[in-house]
Amino acid sequence: MKPFAYERVGEPAAALATMVRPGTVYLAGGTNLVDLMKLGVACPDLVVDVNDLPYRDIEALPDGGMRIGALVSNSDLAADRDLRTRFPAVSLALLSGASGQLRNRATVGGNLLQRTRCRYFQDVTKACNKRDPGAGCAAREGDHRDLAILGSSPQCIATNPSDLAVALSIMDASIETYGPHGPDSFSIHDFYRRPGERPERDTNLPHGSLVTGVVLPPLPMAATSTYRKVRDRASFAFATASVAAALDVRDGIVHDVRLAYGAVAHLPWRAWAAERAMRGAPATVDTFERAADEELAGARPLRDNAFKVPLVRNLTVAVLRKMTEANW
Ligand code: SF4
Repeated sequence: MKPFAYERVGEPAAALATMVRPGTVYLAGGTNLVDLMKLGVACPDLVVDVNDLPYRDIEALPDGGMRIGALVSNSDLAADRDLRTRFPAVSLALLSGASGQLRNRATVGGNLLQRTRCRYFQDVTKACNKRDPGAGCAAREGDHRDLAILGSSPQCIATNPSDLAVALSIMDASIETYGPHGPDSFSIHDFYRRPGERPERDTNLPHGSLVTGVVLPPLPMAATSTYRKVRDRASFAFATASVAAALDVRDGIVHDVRLAYGAVAHLPWRAWAAERAMRGAPATVDTFERAADEELAGARPLRDNAFKVPLVRNLTVAVLRKMTEANW
């Protein structure tokens, strides 16, 4: 590992001030950054430890929403009784990620900012536009079984590895930040980006800004929301595909629905077209199949990941059917 300097800061402004130096990165749980440093993918000159910043609270908001500090651990958040009652998909997503030890260490902010697990991104001997802009993309002709089928670009077919982000997508969460112009906030739908011609950028977070928290707006139907993840082994594995869903069925008709997919795109993929196809329609398998087909019509799989299209379709139907039966 390349030698680096280390500082610990106690104030957000002090953290920001360190970012004027090139080659500076923030450290929270370190469960992704330290791996990337060992691999030579991240080679910072200065590591700024932000664990003393005041972002460790989980608060119920007066409007029925919830604010979660960026330094809350994944374990603490997953176990929070209020979250489990009112936004269970978020807890389920967290519990499906990593191992217990990693969840104890990993933070909410770090989870949202983790880098792709594309094997070529993590291998500095291979061509990767995300790690080295303009170098090419070894995954396109290589091992892309786990990579994107939606919203990719010729430059990059990486997927976002966060389970949490997929659950937050159906909650229309806001990501709170602190940057050179003070506090700011992004809708989760504007926080992440498609790779386009700039795959080196995972998010629209300005350089040097801190993620300070996440706000979940009130959403009554989130109380029955769920998260289901398909992966190659039962635990401690990234998703092959995942679905977060919330469903409100009244008199057999889909009154409202929220649906998002994980591990299929460079960002948590909110299934807007599928949602539109379901609202006002009978809550039946036929409707769910048609909705999934509508969403997946834009899929552009490659040689080895075409299986994800029927996988996501089947997962969508299975999750919504189970939720519908639970409603009856
Ligand atoms: Fe790099 Fe993206 Fe290609 Fe993976 S898919 S090798 S991250 S450019």
